[in-house]
Amino acid sequence: MMKILILGSGQDAGIPQIGCYCENCNNARKNKEYIRLAPSIALYDNENKFCFLIEASPDIKYQIDILTNKKIVSNRKGILPVDGIFLTHAHFGHCSGLWLLGKECTEEKNVPVYCSPVMKQFLQNNHPFNHLSDRKNIILNEMAIGKELSFKKFKFSITSIEVPHRNEHSDTVGYIIKGQNKILYLSDLDLWTEEIITHVNSVDIAFLDGTFYTNKEISRYKEVPHVPIVETMDLLKESTTEIYFTHFNHSNPIVKPEGEEWRYSIKMGFKIAYDRLTIDI
Ligand SMILES: [Zn+2]
Ligand SMILES: [Zn+2]
Ligand SMILES: [Zn+2]
Repeated sequence: MMKILILGSGQDAGIPQIGCYCENCNNARKNKEYIRLAPSIALYDNENKFCFLIEASPDIKYQIDILTNKKIVSNRKGILPVDGIFLTHAHFGHCSGLWLLGKECTEEKNVPVYCSPVMKQFLQNNHPFNHLSDRKNIILNEMAIGKELSFKKFKFSITSIEVPHRNEHSDTVGYIIKGQNKILYLSDLDLWTEEIITHVNSVDIAFLDGTFYTNKEISRYKEVPHVPIVETMDLLKESTTEIYFTHFNHSNPIVKPEGEEWRYSIKMGFKIAYDRLTIDI
């Protein structure tokens, strides 16, 4: 059976965040269970022997350890047990892990990387990513937005959808995965649109941007305007989709287990993703 494994439920910087000693960060330092690595999920099936990552996070070495400890295997013969990596966008927490596939590190060979045409241009034209493709550590595969890519051998298909987000270096996509169930992965979203709400309602399980609980949480919210959880809960309270929040910033009070916000969200029918959570799909 195909499964999703949450490898990182933190925002790009993870929890604890470097140099921060707030309550959430200190709790994560004291209790490893509360650590949230940078965003990443694995899509795997040990019977059919495949494992794909969505995102290449700066915490990829710990995330590969999670795969290894769980004895997750891939079809590709490489150093990492990964058949390919789907990228969402060019922000630090979502693609900088690729650097660890290069010659200073694993010197991987021919790891398929899937991304939008704009993201491919970005990777081909900017250091250090261009060296990785020049040396064939990674092989860039362009995925047109909205066009289904089918992995018949592995019995699933995947389609990207365009997402409104800060697009300084690339565009941003979410992914819809179709196996026995339909899954949406949407880590970074600045604005809810009718189209995206329709996508959420069309799937069985959705992993959604949970960066902030409210827009009052950090003083520079206007610079990084992710949709706050309170707004998402209000918009989607009638949805029959199973919704998990993920991509939590260290400032988000929802990460405090059994805290007020945590309890309220659960009561409203939403779920809170955490690292190493496995879901059959
Ligand atoms: Zn992010
Ligand atoms: Zn903190
Ligand atoms: Zn982002």
